[in-house]
Amino acid sequence: MLKKDNGARSNKGGGNMRTRITLACTQCKQRNYNTTKDKKAHPDRMETKKYCRFCKTHTLHKETK
Ligand SMILES: [Zn+2]
Repeated sequence: MLKKDNGARSNKGGGNMRTRITLACTQCKQRNYNTTKDKKAHPDRMETKKYCRFCKTHTLHKETK
């Protein structure tokens, strides 16, 4: 007798663990960018150089809540 295995592996939530973060300029503290990151790949706060339109130059941007 063949029995159908139904719903053994349901597809919940997509499986992509991306977290929304905000990047703030470390010079003027403006929050210039919204992005997402993979929390498994970057468990710590991210820091990245990006253009700040308030400072009118590239500055270090840090992840903030
Ligand atoms: Zn700035």
